[in-house]
Amino acid sequence: MAKVVAVANQKGGVGKTTTVVNLSSCIAALGKKVLVVDLDPQGNTTSGYGVAKHTLTSGIYPCLLGETDVREAIVKTKFNADLIPSNTELAGAGIELVSVDRREFSLRSALAPVVPLYDYIFIDCPPSLDLLTLNGLCACDTVLIPIQCEYYALEGLSELMNTLKTVRKKYNRYLDIEGVVFTMYSGRLNLTMQVVAQVKKYYGNKVYKSVIPRTVRLSEAPSFGMPINFYEPNGKGCEAYMAMAREFLAANEKD
Ligand code: ADP
Ligand code: MG
Repeated sequence: MAKVVAVANQKGGVGKTTTVVNLSSCIAALGKKVLVVDLDPQGNTTSGYGVAKHTLTSGIYPCLLGETDVREAIVKTKFNADLIPSNTELAGAGIELVSVDRREFSLRSALAPVVPLYDYIFIDCPPSLDLLTLNGLCACDTVLIPIQCEYYALEGLSELMNTLKTVRKKYNRYLDIEGVVFTMYSGRLNLTMQVVAQVKKYYGNKVYKSVIPRTVRLSEAPSFGMPINFYEPNGKGCEAYMAMAREFLAANEKD
């Protein structure tokens, strides 16, 4: 059975998509069976995996409405992981899902048939705490939180923690935090050090030792439709996500 991990933070631009694409690809490269679910209507994970959005005939959206079997929506990427792409139709899902029975569990129900087929499933959540993100949080075992090392990083966190608390209480009792990862890190800045210290105080051993540095390569890889371990396998960005992938697996595969 796959472990399902939602990557969430309602702040935009903190590195959720970059982390989903590159961490999932590195974990797949280490030999695991990985499925990536793009739950953001912007579809950046879809294009980051080299899948052209305009050519898609299916995607996660009809699966959420129970109109398509996820097995028909899965795309084999050119890389090691499989993908359920997003499409712009997904933007309307928040509204359409509202009338669906057990609307918080649409994604969980949709994914159920493929959970036994993978080792890990990663869900890229949109930058909000809307019904789509709620579906991500109800479908997962754990949530992985990317944090950008900037002053406002801490502001949204208490809201996110409150949401997790509500989700645990109402929908997904065993929801746990997978970890917290620092993205776009530039270690010498005083501010960075302060944010890191505060987050560590709160999240303790949930904080990944691997940190993701700010590198231009990570920001340009998506325009080539390639995860970093294919785009620049010998660079700093790949080294960081590979180290994170190993840390992730070490935490999950110890007996
Ligand atoms: P989110 O999914 O949380 O909105 P993204 O992963 O799309 O965030 O990242 C936001 C922007 O920052 C993107 O343009 C992305 O390419 C860039 N970015 C993310 N991580 C890094 C990094 N480590 N170094 C440089 N640029 C990055
Ligand atoms: Mg994103």
